[in-house]
Amino acid sequence: MPEPECIFCKIAQHQIPVKAVHEDDHSICFPDIDAQAPTHLLLIPKEHYPNAAAAPADVLGHLLKQAATLGEGLLPQGYRVVVNTGDDGGQTVHHLHLHILGGRPMHWPPG
Ligand code: AMP
Ligand code: ZN
Repeated sequence: MPEPECIFCKIAQHQIPVKAVHEDDHSICFPDIDAQAPTHLLLIPKEHYPNAAAAPADVLGHLLKQAATLGEGLLPQGYRVVVNTGDDGGQTVHHLHLHILGGRPMHWPPG
């Protein structure tokens, strides 16, 4: 069930338009509005889960495989997949999402 005030649920239901780079029955991938790298995409499940722990294993598997497929296709020099979780993890939108970042060398350790 969509959460009424969840911005990513609204994107998943096409109530807020995005320039999707991928969409299927279960997920949608679109540019982050505040890009932290030359390519910065968000991959979200259409179903609302507040974080990875709340999502079933098959959903997590589908998302990670999709992120890898998109990364390989769009960012052949490499990319990073990030799942910020909770306050210390820097999560600001409480609908599970994977960041896919690339187009420049990533720093380690992350900040
Ligand atoms: P996080 O901080 O890991 O929860 O990531 C949430 C991300 O969602 C941030 O990087 C925001 O820039 C991004 N974001 C918030 N609203 C939108 C939107 N309407 N379209 C695209 N990205 C968004
Ligand atoms: Zn949601």
